[in-house]
Amino acid sequence: MALAKRSLYTGAEITWCRLCGNFGLMSAFAWAVEELSESIPLEKFVVLSGIGCHGKIVDYINLNSFYSIHGRAPATATGIKLANPELYPVCFVGDGDIYAEGISHLLFAAKRNTDITVIVHDNRAYSLTTGQFTPTSPVIFRGKSTPEGPPEDPINPVALMLEAGATFVARGYAGYTDHLKEIIKQAILHKGFSFVDVLQPCVVFYNTYELYNRQVYKLESAGHDPSSYEEAYRRAKEWDYNREDVRIPIGVFYKTDKPTYEERV
Ligand code: SF4
Repeated sequence: MALAKRSLYTGAEITWCRLCGNFGLMSAFAWAVEELSESIPLEKFVVLSGIGCHGKIVDYINLNSFYSIHGRAPATATGIKLANPELYPVCFVGDGDIYAEGISHLLFAAKRNTDITVIVHDNRAYSLTTGQFTPTSPVIFRGKSTPEGPPEDPINPVALMLEAGATFVARGYAGYTDHLKEIIKQAILHKGFSFVDVLQPCVVFYNTYELYNRQVYKLESAGHDPSSYEEAYRRAKEWDYNREDVRIPIGVFYKTDKPTYEERV
């Protein structure tokens, strides 16, 4: 069978809620892989997940896959890449999963410049467990554990990854699937640690479609230069995750070349 022609979906029943941002994210990834399969054999992709609504993607995507544990997908992917450098590990993780439980694994994968891709389904809520706040929830988020809002401020993961040393840092929006597909293609092809935070609305516990449709803009249409670290950091800080009245940049913030972890060990 010509692998490029096979369906990228397993046919398993999809149990995500109707209109969940996970659908747009999964489509963007499948389209990206389909286009990349012209040069990368499908058997060289490995998809991994953490725990959360996002994690079901490994059941739905018809590629080599590994259901990892909470927050540990980057550590598992690092092992896979060290064992077989020809593979392309792509981690799907959630904002609660990776910015809380898995934060040290994320930081060290970025610091080491491990040649893996991390794609965050960032819906800014623990949705599988019915709506607790996560590290990217704003103070206005009304969740089951914090009905009056979290008593702490959200992190900015794009700025965090720039600080940690990630060599490819991007943000996408699940509502703009073509744009997200292009970002994911670049992330997978990048040699070194690639980070893509995806704005992924949860229609049940934090429906942000209206906010993102109103405030999002594309970095490339603003003349952004992704080779400048200073400019990337300035753009990253444009959006305070507590605010709904400022513009939200999406696209590739930063891209640079550096020896990978696999080359240095
Ligand atoms: S609970 Fe939210 S994140 Fe989970 S599948 Fe439903 S809409 Fe998507």
